[in-house]
Amino acid sequence: MNIRLKNAVIMPKAGAEAFRGEVQIADGKIVYAGKQNDRMYFAAEREKDCRGNLLVPGFCNAHAHSAMTLFRGIADDLPLREWLFDRIFPLEDCLTEEDVYWGTMLAAAEYVRGGTTAVADMYFFHDTAAKALRKSGMAVALCCGTNDIGGGDVKEHLKTMESRYHAYEGKERLKYILGLHAEYTCSDALLEGTADLAATLGAPTYIHCSETLKEVGECSVRRGMTPVEYLHKIGFFDCGGIIAHGTYLEKTDIELLKEKNVTVASNPSSNLKLASGVAPVYTMLKNGLRVALGTDGAASNNALSMFREMYLMSCLQKERMKDAAAVSAESALSAATEAGYAALGFNGGEIREGKDADLVLIDLDAPGMRPRADFGKSLVYSADTSAVLMTVAGGHIAYEEGQYEIGEKIEEIYRNTERCIKRLREAAEKRA
Ligand SMILES: [Zn+2]
Repeated sequence: MNIRLKNAVIMPKAGAEAFRGEVQIADGKIVYAGKQNDRMYFAAEREKDCRGNLLVPGFCNAHAHSAMTLFRGIADDLPLREWLFDRIFPLEDCLTEEDVYWGTMLAAAEYVRGGTTAVADMYFFHDTAAKALRKSGMAVALCCGTNDIGGGDVKEHLKTMESRYHAYEGKERLKYILGLHAEYTCSDALLEGTADLAATLGAPTYIHCSETLKEVGECSVRRGMTPVEYLHKIGFFDCGGIIAHGTYLEKTDIELLKEKNVTVASNPSSNLKLASGVAPVYTMLKNGLRVALGTDGAASNNALSMFREMYLMSCLQKERMKDAAAVSAESALSAATEAGYAALGFNGGEIREGKDADLVLIDLDAPGMRPRADFGKSLVYSADTSAVLMTVAGGHIAYEEGQYEIGEKIEEIYRNTERCIKRLREAAEKRA
């Protein structure tokens, strides 16, 4: 559909000057972003008057476990180990494809309600998750999160990974990223096998890494190396990639990641709520490492709001460095937009001709956006998802003023997620 978004104030990217103008969208791409020009002909099937509100690039959630929305609010205020092993794993053992579908649909609703237009999703039943997320038009990177902590044939794991990688090759706004759950949940054979596979395919990798002090300490005792040093040594990052968390990174880890063009997908809310720590984001940025932002799953966060991640990314660094200038609002906005897109290899994060039409209309009459000051600062420090008027993902209007266009009715999503979690709890109790 050809869409014309007129009478807007456009902030083309983090830190850029905003200007009054319009955006024209054709076949999912931005074909014009500039000054308003009523005489210019553009055959739009939908023309929206933005009434002077603010258009910004859509957010990229660079680390999520979408269908974990099902587990939101059922295992809070617990230490990480108890949370994961006693509460989450027993429920995940009973997960069906249908659960993942409805849990992912609930996540899709929350994503577009909060202006998120791209996501890196690491969970089970990839095809089903992709089907659910793509209905909203979002760009989707399915991240492999395999582990063999409970056994399993390494060759089989690698074969599955490779065939999935090929199955998603060349797809528009949908890709599969090779990867593993974490160093501590995988055997050496699986870690090294994945590194070799990535090298053969020339593909980047994805992994949870250095999330807790315990993880880094145990790896250092076992291997005499940090998780980053070990993964670097076996060539896991030879074609680049993404690590989720990076809460505990040494200066040398940061150098190794930089050398291999690896992005850190930081998850400030999740790290805070699970008392894991505060990542050294200031040091990463200062050393030229790319930092993107993610929410992690809704069982640990518990929201999928990029507004909250931006706020925390910036403010936690101020406290960590005891310097209010440490990480600016612009840096946080850049992490939530262009850095995530660049890390996942999607064509967005900026409102510019030729980019995918992933953008968000922000209500400048939301109280948190008033009085009119620096839009970037207000977005990060005072706005929240309630300021989102409209989300366009891949040229598809997925959310607009209370209405969702994500492939399922919102009431159906709510009804089915309640049904799925009720069944899951009963199934997990029966097994216990
Ligand atoms: Zn995670």
